[in-house]
Amino acid sequence: MRYQRRSLMRLFEYQGKALFARYGIPVPRSLLAENESQVLSAVDELGLPVVIKAQVLSGGRGRAGGVVVVKTRDAAVGEARRVLGLTVGGEPTRSLLVEEASEHSAEMYLAVSLDRGRREFVALASRSGGTEVESQARGAIVEVPVPLDGLTDDAASALGAKLGLDGRTASEFRSILRRLEKLSREEECELVEINPLAVHLDGSLVALDSKVVLDDNALFRHPEFSQLAPEDPLEGEAAKFGFAFVRLDGNIAVVGNGAGLVLSTLDLVADSGGRAACFLDLGGGAQRDRVEAALRLVRRLPDAKVILVNIFGGITRTTDVAEGLRGVLSEEPMAPVCARISGADQEEAHALLSGSGILVFGSAQEAVLAAVEAVSP
Ligand code: GDP
Ligand code: MN
Repeated sequence: MRYQRRSLMRLFEYQGKALFARYGIPVPRSLLAENESQVLSAVDELGLPVVIKAQVLSGGRGRAGGVVVVKTRDAAVGEARRVLGLTVGGEPTRSLLVEEASEHSAEMYLAVSLDRGRREFVALASRSGGTEVESQARGAIVEVPVPLDGLTDDAASALGAKLGLDGRTASEFRSILRRLEKLSREEECELVEINPLAVHLDGSLVALDSKVVLDDNALFRHPEFSQLAPEDPLEGEAAKFGFAFVRLDGNIAVVGNGAGLVLSTLDLVADSGGRAACFLDLGGGAQRDRVEAALRLVRRLPDAKVILVNIFGGITRTTDVAEGLRGVLSEEPMAPVCARISGADQEEAHALLSGSGILVFGSAQEAVLAAVEAVSP
């Protein structure tokens, strides 16, 4: 098969920080909490002020209100309740990291990333990190290739010097970068990122956030992570309905009935230059409620820019499918839907969808081309 299962696994911040600590990278003291009373115990243990941080895999928690500094026990309880009710990037917050708040004067950015094209690791760093780093000009980030046998002290120092660091900050930067690079190599990471890497008033450094993306194919060599493996909430949901569901890394959500049909739809998408965001096989009896459940599920895929539905109605009544599509569409706005629905009563099904905004095509090929077209820049 040409479709590789998305083989990247992202760790939660607290898991990444545990890994950092194991490699001697400085992190603030912190405790994981799942409810308000655990937050209070953490506050008692760490002392105020603390930072309460939503443990979700999506980035941009700061902007979404998922990172907050609290100065009193009352505020800790109130904010814990609020953040536990928060959904970031479609992902509900299940736990919080309670961390001693760090007084810092600057935020830097540091990462080691696997460059697939060049098949080598690169170290990336910027003097200004934090939530602004994405909007920064590329030029603000300095980069050095990492040799296969690791980064020397000199190479690490050179990167620090390029950033204009000196004194205590320069030497701690060198040590953190070397440890981060060692971690990345030994744990077979695609990406390890510290953003922000906070600079304290005395020039010392501490990792305030972690982003660790592992190569899932290497997991068997790292059994300790299998238990860490965060479960994909969408996969859990799909299992509840008995759907075969696999998340992929493109932007076209593919939904169909029957494994053969869904796989051939994936082939068509790939042949037309498109990339699937998932495949979801509804299975045999695609009744109205199952069609609805499937669409509610795929519309939560953050990267899906279009939904491609390919249904062949054998046992499935095509009018049921059409009603299911209409039902979900009326709930809330979602990505455009390109559909091919064929089989018994298909004229009636198509009539039900006319004026609904769903684009209906006579053949799978046409539906696929329209979907690919819809996501082309
Ligand atoms: P992200 O938005 O998901 O990347 O979450 P971060 O963990 O990077 O937090 C967002 C921002 O909150 C950071 O850029 C910091 O400015 C701030 N922040 C995070 N932890 C602390 C902390 O311990 N103390 C203080 N003062 N600010 C923090
Ligand atoms: Mn961050």
